[in-house]
Amino acid sequence: MEELKKKIITEGKALNEEVLKVDAFLNHQIDPVLMKQIGEEFAERYRDAGITKIVTLESSGIAPSLMTGMELGVEVVVARKRKSLTLQEGLLSAEVYSFTKQEKSTICISSEFIHDTDCVLIIDDFLANGQAALGLMNLVEQTKATIEGIGVIIEKQFQHGGKNLRNKGVRVDALAQIERLEKGKVIFTDEEVHI
Ligand code: 5GP
Repeated sequence: MEELKKKIITEGKALNEEVLKVDAFLNHQIDPVLMKQIGEEFAERYRDAGITKIVTLESSGIAPSLMTGMELGVEVVVARKRKSLTLQEGLLSAEVYSFTKQEKSTICISSEFIHDTDCVLIIDDFLANGQAALGLMNLVEQTKATIEGIGVIIEKQFQHGGKNLRNKGVRVDALAQIERLEKGKVIFTDEEVHI
């Protein structure tokens, strides 16, 4: 997706060889115009997949998921990272090791909002080692709903989460694929760009 790549080039920062900072448009400040385009792109790719529900992880997955949900006309379920007093009934949980926080956490959803007849599209901001995606898949699998695919905004291909998921037969759609990061430099799978 060209608009996204341009944004990564102009506003992203490769902190080191593993971490890309995109606080300027995705993780801290959010660009609504880009989020709308991202929503349209995911919706376009999954228009004929019979999606009935989007599942994402708080907080950075919410904006792109909402835009996609708006386009597809389906609701968005946000998996929580913290226990909540209001989230207790029929709680489903999964363990996730966070790449950025370097710690294990429990993510959860209420079974109230996803049913075995649902066709789910999972959306997240980044795909690195695939732990977040696996955790979200685990939650959806517990509801017996069908997982149609995983949409991520940025896939860091050198961390193999995407490769492992695709090898398992899971459909993974990434809107920008990064082959390599060097300090101050992003190398997309098909071109080299300085930022
Ligand atoms: P994974 O679970 O696939 O290893 O990592 C994906 C999760 O870690 C995403 O939900 C995202 O929040 C975070 N993450 C992984 N790599 C990066 C990165 O380079 N930059 C940012 N901002 N977040 C990342």
